[in-house]
Formats: sequence, structure tokens, C-alpha cells
Amino acid sequence: MADVKDLSAYKGVWVFAEQREGKIMPVVIELLGEGRKLADAVGCELCAVLLGDKVEGLTDELFAYGADKVYLADDPELKDYRTDAYSITIGKAIEEYKPEIVLLGATHIGRDLGPCLAVNCNTGLTADCTKLEIDPTDKKIQQTRPAFGGNLMATIICPDHRPQMSTVRPGVMEKAQYQEGRKGEVVKLNVSFKEGEIRTKVLEIVKSLKETVSLTDAKIIVSGGMGLGKPEGFDLLKQLADKLGGVVAASRAAVDAGWIDHSYQVGQTGTTVKPKVYFACGISGAIQHVAGMQDSELIVAINTNESAPIFEIADVGIVGDLYKVIPAIIEELDKV
Ligand code: FAD
Repeated sequence: MADVKDLSAYKGVWVFAEQREGKIMPVVIELLGEGRKLADAVGCELCAVLLGDKVEGLTDELFAYGADKVYLADDPELKDYRTDAYSITIGKAIEEYKPEIVLLGATHIGRDLGPCLAVNCNTGLTADCTKLEIDPTDKKIQQTRPAFGGNLMATIICPDHRPQMSTVRPGVMEKAQYQEGRKGEVVKLNVSFKEGEIRTKVLEIVKSLKETVSLTDAKIIVSGGMGLGKPEGFDLLKQLADKLGGVVAASRAAVDAGWIDHSYQVGQTGTTVKPKVYFACGISGAIQHVAGMQDSELIVAINTNESAPIFEIADVGIVGDLYKVIPAIIEELDKV
């Protein structure tokens, strides 16, 4: 249980260094970027917490991205993510080293691990944050996240428990800069479990056969909504995306209609994206969609309805039928 009386005993910003098959997840680099800003504002060190089997080689990467210290638990029991094994190991480390702030990516693993850790440590957790700031007066972290179906942004603080914990949406924070050769300290964590403490066993990992898409890294996204009218509309969007070296994405309504897989969804309950160019084709611009793409560098909206809200945030607005506009753009690109 966290010592709720002496909050001053808690120091340092920790980032959960989620790895899969020996590769650091991109969100960790974003958390290290954000964690550095928070650590500087509070005046403390930035640490990464790395769990896995034969993962010690990843510590250099974490130092290069700004970690001052890496807490390492390297053990065959931690090869695959299991809620009990990971939450017990990190929970004990939190109890021993007392970080003030703990950040996790709002990935499938982070969304499972974060709440368990918060319960183990008798503290709170703000899930799915899109902004983190340190209040200069009391140095508490202000955690902002969409609330009430994305209709307002709530700023949440954790007044009298520690650590302050957040899961952070991938693709929202700026990535940390890579500094070749930067070094830090490795602190090895004790990995031991009592009889019956780990209640699950991984028998097999079956990878999804569905096409996977990396929207967060895409520079150009051609996104479609209900205005496509039919699933085949995505073939046209793919033609444009291929011409521009981009990828296709979708609104939730198009996903819900079964036209495209959920992994392509942009928005509050999908992926947050920040490409150089975002084409919104037949997408009305509902607040929940906009929440996931408004930080795109250039937004091009194609919509038959000149009053569609998407035009309020578009840099380039084209009022027209996407089935006429997109072939015309492709034709022009063919001439180049
Ligand atoms: P519509 O709103 O139906 O818009 C279709 C648009 O296409 C219209 O503007 C129309 O004028 C235009 N159009 C029609 N024909 C053409 C044509 N031929 N050429 C060009 N334009 C045409 N939505 C998301 O996208 N992502 C999320 O993550 C998400 N999360 C949500 C979470 C919650 C809790 C809730 C309540 C909702 C969420 N939604 C999300 C749903 C969101 O509120 C909207 O319903 C959804 O974004 C609408 O999708 P759309 O723009 O494709 O469809």
C-alpha cells in the first residue's frame, strides 16, 4: 500500500517501457518525450521500467531516448505479458522506489496493466490522457482526457495519493529525440512470485490474420466515411493513397457499417493521427472523429454538404461528390 501520509517520499517520473518480441513500442518514445518535460518541470529524474525475457539489450535505446535510469526485470517468467506477473513486479518496485508519476501507453497492455497497478498501489489512474502538464504552484500533474463522449475535455488531478498515474494515448505526444551514446544507470528488479500468485499461463500466441495498419506513423492519410455509400468506396481511396504513398483510414460510422476493419478507425475511440496531409472524404466532422485528426498538418475535406462541420477545421475544403473529386485528383497526379 502506498504511504499516503508522506507524499514527499515520492520522487521521479517513470515510463513503462512496453516491448513486444524484443522491440520497444513507439508509444514509449512518446512517453519518454513527455516524461522528460514533466521531470524537468518537477526537477526530478526520468526512469524507464522494462520487463521481459532477454531484454537487457534494450536499455541503451531507452537511455538514448532520455531515460536517466532503467529499472530492469529480466526473467523467463516475464517473457509474455501477463497481468499478474507484470503488475506484481512493477507494484513491488513502486513500493520500494516510490515514483511520483507513472506513465503507461494506452495500448491493450497499458489499459490492462494501469488499473491493476493503481489498485495494487492504492492510488488513482487517469486513463486515455491526451495532455499532461505540471501545475507550477503545487507541482501536481494535471491530466487531461476527453469525457462525456468527447464533448468536453476533463482535467483531472490526483490530490493525496501517490504515484500519480496516467495512461496516454499513442500518437498524441511528441517523440523524444534520439541521442546516440547517451548512458544511464540500470537497476535490476527482483522477480519472485509466491505459489499460486500468477493465475494465468500463456499456451500459444495466435497473431491476427487481419491486415494491420500503422496509422500513427503515416505521413499521408486518405480517410473515408459514410459519404462513401458502400464498402467498395475504399478501393477508390486506396488508389489515391497509393499514388501519394499514404494509407487509408476511416470514420467510426464506416467501421460500424462493416466496410473496413476497426484498426483503420481514426478518432476518440480509434487511433489519434498527426500526418502531414489528412484527406477527410465523405466525413461530416463529428467531434469524436475530429479529436483523433485535428493536429494533422494539412486537412483536405471533400464533402457534398457545404455546412458539414469538417469544413470548420479544414485547410482546404472541396464541396463536391467524392466520386467526382477523387478521380479528378488522381487524373491530375497522373500528369505529374
Ligand atoms: P456521417 O456523420 O454520416 O457523415 C457523412 C458525410 O458524408 C456527410 O457530411 C455527408 O454530407 C457526406 N457525403 C455524403 N455523400 C457524399 C459524397 N458522395 N461525397 C462527399 N461527401 C458525401 N467517430 C469516429 O469517426 N471516430 C471515433 O473514434 C468515434 N468515437 C466515438 C465515441 C463515442 C462515445 C461516440 C458517441 C461516437 C463516436 N464516433 C466516432 C461517432 C461520431 O459521433 C460520428 O457518428 C461519426 O464520426 C460519423 O461518421 P461519418 O462522418 O463517416 O458519417
